[in-house]
Amino acid sequence: MKYYCPKCKSKEIMEFGNSVYCSECDLEFSKDFIGKIEDSNVLSNQELNGVLDAFEEFKDPDKLNEFLKSVEEDLNSLKNKNKKK
Ligand SMILES: [Zn+2]
Repeated sequence: MKYYCPKCKSKEIMEFGNSVYCSECDLEFSKDFIGKIEDSNVLSNQELNGVLDAFEEFKDPDKLNEFLKSVEEDLNSLKNKNKKK
């Protein structure tokens, strides 16, 4: 599998570990995405980190579990409400 930059399609990229770096775009991409999803949908690692930062608290597995539990409870209470109708 030959990797390339999903943004500018340049093959002049540096590979390291599970990522490729395009000096043209100054962006890093995960090899997991290249060629597997549409190039225009590939997020750079920089963009992904931005997304993760927005969900900073979910990096903590306890908080994530708590959040998921509260969603589950909400869903259950909705289901119960519907049953009572
Ligand atoms: Zn590029």
